[in-house]
Parts: sequence; C-alpha cells; structure tokens
Amino acid sequence: MSLSAIRDSSELASFRVNFRQFLKDQVVPAHSAVFRSDGFPREVWRAAGAAGFLGLDVPRELGGRGIDDYRYSAVVAQEIVAAGLNGFAITLQNDIVIPYISAIANHEQRKRWLPALCAGESVSAIAMTEPEAGSDLARLSLTACKVNGGYRLNGEKFFISNGLTQNFLLLVARTAEGPMGLSLFIVEDAANAVGRTPVTKLGLRAQDTARLAFDDHFVPDGALLGSPGRAAGYLMRMLPKERLAIAVRADAGTRKSLMLTQDHVRTRQVRGSTLGSLQGIRFALADMMAELQANEALTALAVDRLNQGRLSEADAAAAKLRSSETFRAVTDRCLHLFGAHGYLAQSEISELFLDARGITLQGGSSEIMREIIASAARL
Ligand SMILES: Cc1cc2nc3c(=O)[nH]c(=O)nc-3n(C[C@H](O)[C@H](O)[C@H](O)COP(=O)(O)OP(=O)(O)OC[C@H]3O[C@@H](n4cnc5c(N)ncnc54)[C@H](O)[C@@H]3O)c2cc1C
Repeated sequence: MSLSAIRDSSELASFRVNFRQFLKDQVVPAHSAVFRSDGFPREVWRAAGAAGFLGLDVPRELGGRGIDDYRYSAVVAQEIVAAGLNGFAITLQNDIVIPYISAIANHEQRKRWLPALCAGESVSAIAMTEPEAGSDLARLSLTACKVNGGYRLNGEKFFISNGLTQNFLLLVARTAEGPMGLSLFIVEDAANAVGRTPVTKLGLRAQDTARLAFDDHFVPDGALLGSPGRAAGYLMRMLPKERLAIAVRADAGTRKSLMLTQDHVRTRQVRGSTLGSLQGIRFALADMMAELQANEALTALAVDRLNQGRLSEADAAAAKLRSSETFRAVTDRCLHLFGAHGYLAQSEISELFLDARGITLQGGSSEIMREIIASAARL
C-alpha cells in the first residue's frame, strides 16, 4: 500500500523522521511502565516540549513552532499510532486544548498559558462529559456560580482523558439555565483541588482517564475563557478540528491493523498454502484496503480544508464517521484472521481492537456525526 494520502513534502518527511526518533528514544521506554497506570510522567511531556513537538501552530514568541499547517499535527498522530503509543495523548494537547486558547483566550491569557503548554510544563485535558450527560450537552449540570472575584465550581465530570496527569483543565460549566448558559473555564490548580478517581477502560490502557469531582472549588475571574454563556458556540467552532484529529488516528490504526494482518496471512499455513493465497481472505483484505484508501483521501481533503480555514462541521463529521467506523470494523475482522492468536491479551491486534472500540464514541458518537451531516443537508 502507498503511504497516507496526506502527502509528505521533504520538510514534512524529515519532521516525521525526527518525531519517530523522539518516540523511540523518549516515549517507548516510558510506555511499558505506564501501561495500566496513571499516565505518562511529566518528563516525557517536557521532553516533547523541548524537542518542539508541542504547540506546533502556536507563534514562536509564545513558545510554539509557528507552523500553520495541520499536516504536521497529522504526522504526529499517525506516528503515535504506528508506534503503538495510542495512550500518549499529545494530540489532545496540540489539536484540542491549545486551539481553544489560541482562538478564544485574550492576549494576557495567551501569554500566561501558551508557553507552559508548549514547554510541556502544563499537561492539559478537556472536561465536557458528565455522568448524566454526554451526547446531549444541553443537559450539562456542573455549575459555576459567580461570587466576589471569581466563580465556585460544583459537580462532576466523567471519562476525562489525561484526567489524572493534567494540571491544566479546560472545563465546560453552567453559569446560567438554558442553552446559552454554558461557559468555558481554565482550572490551573485542578491537580490539588479536585477529587480525581481513575476510570478503568477496555482499551487505550496507557492513557489515563478520570472522574473529576468539584466541591465548591474557587476559580478567579481570570479563569473564564471568552465570554460567559458562549461555550456552545465555541464548541461548535472548535469540535471539527478535534474530530479531524480522531479521523487521522483512526486511519492510522486501520493502516496498522491491515499491515499486521497482511504480514500474518503471508506466512500462516493452512492445507499446504498460506492464508493469504485463499481467495476469500485476499478479497476481504482487498476490500478493507480499498476502504482505507477512500477514507484517507476524505481525511486528506478535510486536512486541506482546515488549512484553508473552511473545514465545516459536516466535513469533519463525515471524516470522523467513516474513519472511526472503518477502524472498528477492520480490527474486528483482522483479529479474526489471526485466529486464536489474535484473541491473546496484549497481542498487537487485540490492543488495536480494544482501542478502536472507543473511537466511535469519543469526540461525539457516530450517531451524533450522522445528525450533523443530516442537519447540514437540511433533512
Ligand atoms: C476513549 C474515550 C475518551 C474520552 N475522552 C473524553 C474527554 O477527554 N473529555 C470528555 O469530556 N469526554 C470524553 N469522553 C466521553 C465522550 O465524549 C462521550 O462518551 C460521548 O460524548 C458520548 O456520550 P455518552 O458516553 O454519555 O453516551 P450517551 O450520550 O449516553 O449515548 C449513549 C448512546 O446513545 C446514542 N445517542 C445519543 N444521542 C443520540 C441521538 N440524538 N440519536 C441517536 N442516538 C443517540 C449514542 O450514539 C450512544 O450510542 C471520552 C470517551 C471515550 C470512549
């Protein structure tokens, strides 16, 4: 199979080589230690910052790389998946949290927050989901009550990736009743101030996930991001990039699953020939390869549109829907082609299968993606 449809220029190719080497030197050694534990150590994040892999599109004077081209972020996501390091949530910082700060924070807040995020001194998370509200953000109930000099937070967030590691939390909270009642806050001392309980998941086991509880926790006025009551609009503006990042990861996971399976069927013997010589298996793999290529082309188109500032909600939803559903279906089929070897805990294909199971839920489920696409078509 050819490389991803996101074409590498020579500069992008050397960025890819450098990032691959960084993962090998700094992240792989930490990976086995964090498996099933509570996230990557702060030194790994600092090393990523020092090597220039955080805040790719943040201006240099604020500590970033000043690269205004999403293909670099896509390379980071692809290489993390290719190296089997899905739990290292650097794309959460680069593609989800930092863009909110760049786009919505005021000048003083950007100067205060971005350098630490780019240096890996701040490790971030985004907290939208609650125990009683996921897809339906109108039901969010964690409150931020205005008091003298700031706000008091009360309530819970659930399924928060990087929830244990983070010391910089982007939080959606209710400041008033109704759809216009949601606001965004940055909680900088969340590490000490919130109750944090680890959540054990089926997959992505090297990525820490937490339940966070706020009990009358005070944040100053300066923690408010943007204007009060405007969170719904900010989320609509920022979620397409998050969903595109998920599509890139899903394509990379599908590619890795197919590569592993091709290697397996080329050598596994049945009835005097290889599995890969059987027509049913050749055709099944051919169908999956063709689907991957179509998805990668759609994702690459979405990357171009993002770079041109015209990625719509429906474009991103379509890329996320196709790529994540394909990743889920392909890992299921590929695991089967490995026979019982695929069912071994911690085999590469079973890890991919488990990682893929959550991807049709996170960042908005497939049903929500379909709703967005259908609404854009005015159905
Ligand atoms: C691996 C992983 C990481 C995550 N990381 C984060 C994070 O960092 N921060 C964060 O805030 N959240 C995170 N989440 C939570 C994620 O955003 C939610 O799981 C998602 O929004 C769905 O919400 P829910 O789980 O409450 O499901 P629900 O909203 O209860 O949905 C349950 C089912 O109903 C379906 N459904 C819902 N609405 C409709 C509809 N209108 N029409 C048809 N079907 C519908 C859904 O598709 C789903 O199948 C993560 C989730 C996963 C799996």
